[in-house]
Amino acid sequence: MKFQDLNTAEERIQLMEKLSETFLSRAGKNDEEGLFPFENIKELKESGYTSLTVPKRYGGKEISLSEFLCLQEKIAEGDGSTALSIGWHMGIIKSLGEKNNWEESVFKDLCEEVKKGALMNNCATEPQTGSPTRGGKPVTSARKEEGFWIINGRKSFTTMAPVLDYFNVSAVIEDSGEIGNFLIPRNSQGLEIDETWDSIAMRGTGSHDLFLKNVRVKEEALVELFQPGKKGAAGWLLHIPACYLGIAQAAQTYAINFAKDYSPNSISGAIIDLPNVQQKIGEMELELMRTRHFLYSVAKKWDEANDETRSMMQPELGAVKLAVTNAALTVVDLAMRVAGARSLSAKNPLQRYYRDVRAGLHNPPMDDMTIQALAKSAIK
Ligand SMILES: Cc1cc2nc3c(=O)[nH]c(=O)nc-3n(C[C@H](O)[C@H](O)[C@H](O)COP(=O)(O)OP(=O)(O)OC[C@H]3O[C@@H](n4cnc5c(N)ncnc54)[C@H](O)[C@@H]3O)c2cc1C
Repeated sequence: MKFQDLNTAEERIQLMEKLSETFLSRAGKNDEEGLFPFENIKELKESGYTSLTVPKRYGGKEISLSEFLCLQEKIAEGDGSTALSIGWHMGIIKSLGEKNNWEESVFKDLCEEVKKGALMNNCATEPQTGSPTRGGKPVTSARKEEGFWIINGRKSFTTMAPVLDYFNVSAVIEDSGEIGNFLIPRNSQGLEIDETWDSIAMRGTGSHDLFLKNVRVKEEALVELFQPGKKGAAGWLLHIPACYLGIAQAAQTYAINFAKDYSPNSISGAIIDLPNVQQKIGEMELELMRTRHFLYSVAKKWDEANDETRSMMQPELGAVKLAVTNAALTVVDLAMRVAGARSLSAKNPLQRYYRDVRAGLHNPPMDDMTIQALAKSAIK
């Protein structure tokens, strides 16, 4: 069954729930062995998921932000790493379709490739810049030579590096000092992946380093110019909180199932009936409900807004990300308290969720920047 053959969001969500069950069955082994989830990504491609955000004008489904987030949340219930990985690709294509700021023929050609299964991601972070959202300039450079761009540099945190077909690399143009993004195909000479990803969180994202040594690309590879730290409001980045919400949901589901089954001989029945356990389950439910409402009401606002309203939504988009990722930490913590010491077993999925949700703090925008933006917006 393909996503493209389904007419409603509900049907597509049901299909994703099925795929996600398989992802969950693989997540423990992938995490333990630090493997990239190749099979999950292959199945997402084969199901047609990876082209759902292609604009209708290029033959895609152009799903709404709300539906995209819901599908991403479902993926993350099965495997957080798979969700975060594919979320970048899906969200970037969605955002490019909305902003329409690339040369039309370049984006159209990319969309044609995406419909055949091609994957892309932004490669913005460098060891020297830290989080690029804070305004650090890339050290990676581009210079013009006989009608071609020659790119040199190194990127860190290149999520999905093992399977990317296109790397959208930020670089400073040597002559002008301007900053641009360059769309670089995987088979370019001088492009290498250094398998540096040793994070204990989101182990399956394959977020390795990317090396570019005299990589030669065509003139039209320069797809956009921008100012670091000033990219504007980005609804698509809500795939990040959707991912961590999905992981938190998986933790609550695990804790409830555990509590239904666990029956120590100090009580008759299972611990699910105990007030101290129900207190924690209720607290988890409150966090999930509160943040899910927040996430989807802001997504709906984005879906229904015009460009001007969207451009003013940065503080609330950041607030959603902050609220959801921090709530996810709380939910996983509560789930682990329900399961007790077993939650710390290497075989228990809760310890994976515990590590994975920590990564949310270090995806953009960072909490201190959001609080600053909210303060500025309140003062204004
Ligand atoms: C799982 C995962 C996947 C990722 N995938 C991608 C990807 O696909 N593409 C990509 O480009 N990036 C990706 N990233 C990178 C991410 O966007 C950040 O750039 C990266 O995590 C570094 O953020 P940081 O806050 O730790 O680093 P830094 O910016 O170095 O910050 C470290 C600490 O220094 C302080 N600090 C640094 N600079 C300032 C400042 N100017 N003002 C105030 N405080 C400051 C802060 O306290 C901060 O906590 C990924 C990260 C993770 C964890």
